[in-house]
Amino acid sequence: MITQQIKSAIRDIPDFPKPGIIFKDITPILKDPVLCENIVNAFVEQLKGKRIDVIAGIESRGFLFGLTLATKLGVPFVPIRKAGKLPFTIKQKAYKLEYGTAIIECHIDAFEPGQHVLIHDDLLATGGTVTAASELIKEMGCEIAGFCFVVELGFLEGRQRIAPISDTLVVLAE
Ligand code: 5GP
Repeated sequence: MITQQIKSAIRDIPDFPKPGIIFKDITPILKDPVLCENIVNAFVEQLKGKRIDVIAGIESRGFLFGLTLATKLGVPFVPIRKAGKLPFTIKQKAYKLEYGTAIIECHIDAFEPGQHVLIHDDLLATGGTVTAASELIKEMGCEIAGFCFVVELGFLEGRQRIAPISDTLVVLAE
């Protein structure tokens, strides 16, 4: 049922941010507080029994449900940000995009070694961003507890790409 509610709320925007791309706009979900609560509850339910010490949310839409999920689980939230946004000393990771490279960063004191970190983002596409985030988090001495996403673009096969990192994957809609 939640899958259907998410799919109905998401809006397809053709040719955004560039021609040929159909962008999944999740902002209508945010206007529905019951759906937002259901999304977080579905994550909690499907992650039951997993050791999760920290939630890492990917900028920027990964912050939306990431913090709420962390608060609900009673664990810290860590923002993984694009280059140049974090004010304290940072650790960074560069990764390849279709054209060029991107950099993600976290604060050097964001994680404690040995923590089990669950990575959250709104959407799983190629899996490139969360793979880079996993590498960054592992370099901080942590384990990857798994991944959770509101929605997945199945045809991009991100799921296959991240499978070797962790077998814990929660996706609420495709
Ligand atoms: P990936 O690295 O898996 O290829 O891309 C995922 C990242 O790009 C996520 O941070 C996600 O927010 C963003 N992204 C890519 N395509 C879309 C889209 O159609 N809708 C939304 N909401 N985010 C997208």
